[in-house]
Amino acid sequence: MASVINFGAGPAKLPEEVLVNVQKELVKYGNSQISVMEMSHRSSDYMKINDDCQQFVRDLLNVPDNYKIIFLQGGGTALFAAIPLNFMSRTGSADYVVTGTWSAKAAKEAAKYGKINLVLPKTDKYQDIPDISTWKLDPNASYVHVCFNETVDGVEFPYIPDVKGVPLVADMSSNIMTRELDISKFGLIYAGAQKNIGPAGVTLVIVREDLLGSPLPITPAVLDFTVNVKENSLNNTPPTFAIYVMLEVFKWIKSNGGIKGMQTNSNTKSDILYNIIDNSKGFFVSTVNRKVRSKMNVTFRISGECSEGKLEDVFLKGASQRGMLHLKGHRSVGGIRASIYNAVSVANVESLATYMKEFQEKYSK
Ligand SMILES: *Cc1c(COP(=O)(O)O)cnc(C)c1O
Repeated sequence: MASVINFGAGPAKLPEEVLVNVQKELVKYGNSQISVMEMSHRSSDYMKINDDCQQFVRDLLNVPDNYKIIFLQGGGTALFAAIPLNFMSRTGSADYVVTGTWSAKAAKEAAKYGKINLVLPKTDKYQDIPDISTWKLDPNASYVHVCFNETVDGVEFPYIPDVKGVPLVADMSSNIMTRELDISKFGLIYAGAQKNIGPAGVTLVIVREDLLGSPLPITPAVLDFTVNVKENSLNNTPPTFAIYVMLEVFKWIKSNGGIKGMQTNSNTKSDILYNIIDNSKGFFVSTVNRKVRSKMNVTFRISGECSEGKLEDVFLKGASQRGMLHLKGHRSVGGIRASIYNAVSVANVESLATYMKEFQEKYSK
């Protein structure tokens, strides 16, 4: 069916089977005779979607019993505020590990609500994660915030940092459900859905129970984790349709090998592209340290020009003529970025690989 491949960074490609099924159920959901979009969030049909969705998260990610799962609105950006609002009262300060564009934004937002300690030296070129032995962690921090995958810069944590007992908070907006992880190592995990697990509009939050209960008094109810846990994500009208589609994506992940299946595919897909980059004799250049290169957002540069213009522009134009869309790097960094989330298949990535090889053959001097 699809004759194009969407390599966009987000909102991103959804599994075609999911879209087709959503289309099939769009007007009349199950036996309800109405659309999910028209349904009360207090109805038994919607309650089941809400509960199933939580259960799928718990089962797919092996979430321990002492963690709660909630669905909020406002994207990853709302969580940049919600995290300090809910956790800063512990000690009044928090550690931020800034490894890219998104964690820099998170730190800036948090500074409105408390004292921020920047764990790493300041930089505006995000190409590496400095060795953890050099991190200036504050043992008295309320929490340590990391961005597990920097979507713009292509920098991903290959390991879970040991932050010595301080709660670890991770933005997994662009790599949630792409690799197996020990959830018990985290205090809180959050992810806007629109990269790997659904449409925009819902943010998945997994939070350790003992961290609840002490939000700053100014915390808005919509961002209050304690309130939303207590009300089972039904304190106010949730983004019901987005949550329903997310549940369909979870079912798709389960039937495609679960998180292990996603991880195997991610390794295969990212290896294909990085191998081409590494074997291109400098034609394609990765700007990120090999050890922390993202398996989700493969960023690279092509320098030089030809009679048709800058090679990067020629590359993007040729790609879109072949139906390979949205490969342009983020406007703040330029270059090329191939986002290869769960719904992008190995075959899709092979098509891109073939094009890259042909492009190099044609344009390298
Ligand atoms: C996309 C993204 C965000 C921002 O998400 P919004 O839904 O636009 O607020 C935050 N963090 C990361 C890692 C992202 O990829």
